[in-house]
Amino acid sequence: MKSISVNLKSSKYDIDIENGLLDDVGFEIRKIYKGTKIAVVTDENVYKLYGKTVEKSLEKYSFKPHLVILKPGEDSKSIDTLQNLYDNFLEFRLSRTDLIIALGGGVIGDLTGFAAATYLRGIDYVQIPTTLLAQIDSSIGGKVAVNLRQGKNLIGSFYQPKKVIIDPLAIKTLPDEQLKAGISEVIKYACIKDEQFFNYLMEIKTKKDLFNSLEHIIYTCCNIKKEIVEIDEKDNDIRMILNFGHTLAHALEKHFDYKITHGQAVAIGMHYITNKTEELGYTKQGSKYELEKLLENFNINYNLPNVDMEEIREYVLLDKKNMSGNLNLVILRKIGEAFIQSVPAERINLFFS
Ligand code: NAD
Ligand code: ZN
Repeated sequence: MKSISVNLKSSKYDIDIENGLLDDVGFEIRKIYKGTKIAVVTDENVYKLYGKTVEKSLEKYSFKPHLVILKPGEDSKSIDTLQNLYDNFLEFRLSRTDLIIALGGGVIGDLTGFAAATYLRGIDYVQIPTTLLAQIDSSIGGKVAVNLRQGKNLIGSFYQPKKVIIDPLAIKTLPDEQLKAGISEVIKYACIKDEQFFNYLMEIKTKKDLFNSLEHIIYTCCNIKKEIVEIDEKDNDIRMILNFGHTLAHALEKHFDYKITHGQAVAIGMHYITNKTEELGYTKQGSKYELEKLLENFNINYNLPNVDMEEIREYVLLDKKNMSGNLNLVILRKIGEAFIQSVPAERINLFFS
């Protein structure tokens, strides 16, 4: 088993990565929790595929799991569903010393993490991410949130899990579109931090290659995120580097009413900004071409759809992360190295035009 230890001021926890780990969830949880009562929050798709396996493994180690099975999809990351979770926790008489497990993609992880952060002023939780995006990104770093009518992730907290349990084999059942969404974020990590990893990804030619490499890919991404989060847990500084490609991506997601996957939007965003910054002389020549080759290697579309750039600029300025007036734009110096550029509002059309 590959294990990564995350050391933060507020807490310490392990990310465990191994093929087949879903069969051993009970054993892994026993190491960190001596009680019996556990609320397991999941969605219908994940429950059908892995619910019973996890339940069985927990029971084998004398836990008493209570399943809460939600509707799949972003709509479940809502205040209404949050209330539903609290109702269930109260019904189970879940106390502050009990445990919650988030079993699913980023929606389940973010929602359950926020419920755990707030229920009885905070109860321990474990992340068991089952999408590639959740395994390499959302389950690590403690950002938890729900959406409001007015926008995504507007209510949230930083609340670290007690453990992250990752089974790369779970990715085998992921729909292709979701797999590609995860790969876009994998490529993001390579672009901002690790040229060697970028070249490694370039060598993956078939789906079989990809599945054989997943453990290593997930491990590498988790390590990059861990290192960044350890320096800047609360997203005041270097953690913003993880937003490479995300400025345009968020605007596109909003424009398309979240009908495109986040990862697809990120691929377009990374390509768009690298094209611009290469033209403007911030980025080493040829980087855009290398990025194109890697995205094409995974059959990921990076072409900007027909959108009104004025509307995009408005979205960019409205983005909650830019409320201070300046836009923090992540720019590649070259493949494997990025920096954050503060751009005043009146200059954003230099980058988005
Ligand atoms: P998701 O949770 O909606 O999962 C995508 C779909 O895949 C769902 O239909 C789900 O039921 C299904 N699924 C999950 N695991 C499966 C499996 N193994 N096999 C087959 N189907 C499976 O989406 P997501 O992309 O995982 O997460 C998106 C969310 O993550 C967004 O809400 C986003 O804001 C959030 N996010 C959070 C962070 C963070 O730092 N907290 C970072 C990035 C994204
Ligand atoms: Zn992202």
